Amino acid sequence: MQRAKEKGRDNFQIYAQDMHIRALERLTLEQELRYAIERNQLELYYQPQVSVGEGRMVGVEALMRWHHPRHGRVSPMVFIPLAEESGLIEMIGDWALRTACQQAKRWQEQQLPALTMAVNMSARQFLRPTMVDEVARILQEIGLASADLELEITESLMMVDVENGISAMHALKAIGVGLSIDDFGTGYSSLNYLKRFPIDRLKIDKSFLIGIETNQDDLAITLAMIAMAHSMGLSVVAEGVENAAQLAFLRAHRCDEFQGYYFSTPVPAREIPALLEKRLEPVDSAPADLPG
Ligand code: C2E
Ligand code: MG
Ligand code: MG
Repeated sequence: MQRAKEKGRDNFQIYAQDMHIRALERLTLEQELRYAIERNQLELYYQPQVSVGEGRMVGVEALMRWHHPRHGRVSPMVFIPLAEESGLIEMIGDWALRTACQQAKRWQEQQLPALTMAVNMSARQFLRPTMVDEVARILQEIGLASADLELEITESLMMVDVENGISAMHALKAIGVGLSIDDFGTGYSSLNYLKRFPIDRLKIDKSFLIGIETNQDDLAITLAMIAMAHSMGLSVVAEGVENAAQLAFLRAHRCDEFQGYYFSTPVPAREIPALLEKRLEPVDSAPADLPG
């Protein structure tokens, strides 16, 4: 039933031995995830967020990594959904938020150039009645300014409970925390809701960026998303930028920031200071309309 639900409505999955085994594997992983924090198996990596115009880092996004003793590095695409289903996300999400804020504070103490710290939040974490108080408490304990923190939430998260989600967003805005919509364009976006969200930024999902070089629709949608965000007074971050042509396109169309392997993959905290020195060469020939 769970598998069928994951694949969306109106479909079925045949129960098979194979699924039984997979269920057992999940259960074991879930048990192990429970102890991952105290066993020091979780780590945050940081991916630079880069200004499109200047080609230099202006922020980072914290991304969780699980170093599993037997399976090696388990992808967050695997363990975050597991943590969401089991409720463990509240514990590991709190850990991530606190760890990321501590890291941001440490970089400030080392007098590194200012960086915003973006942290992902799951529905269960975001919609907790105590969430805003907890965020405020963590910031206060660590001594980090609220403007240095940005929370990333997805459209699908907001659709879980729109009204409570919007009040939580307003409460976060009131204490000065930044908000962005992650993976924009992939959820069930209702533009009617979007205009009610007190957000600062939209992050265009990487699937569109991957498509802009070959697919006219992805290109048109990306342009429309940039234009729409700007006309709503939001800034735009493109995710998944892997080459110079994609960056040139974003420059030509005034996207504000990007993340992607072209500048850097997510890296451990110790590699961030060196990346702050990095500058991308301006690209002069900007292909405004990539596909032929
Ligand atoms: P996300 O928040 O959309 O993060 C962006 C993902 O894109 C990251 O995958 C990143 O490594 C990947 N990426 C970055 N640049 C490129 C690129 O140029 N090309 C391609 N193909 N991919 C790129 P990652 O680290 O595997 O994380 C996957 C997802 O797991 C995240 O998607 C986020 O939804 C979730 N996640 C990670 N850490 C946390 C966390 O602390 N809390 C919560 N709730 N979710 C998290
Ligand atoms: Mg994100
Ligand atoms: Mg994303």
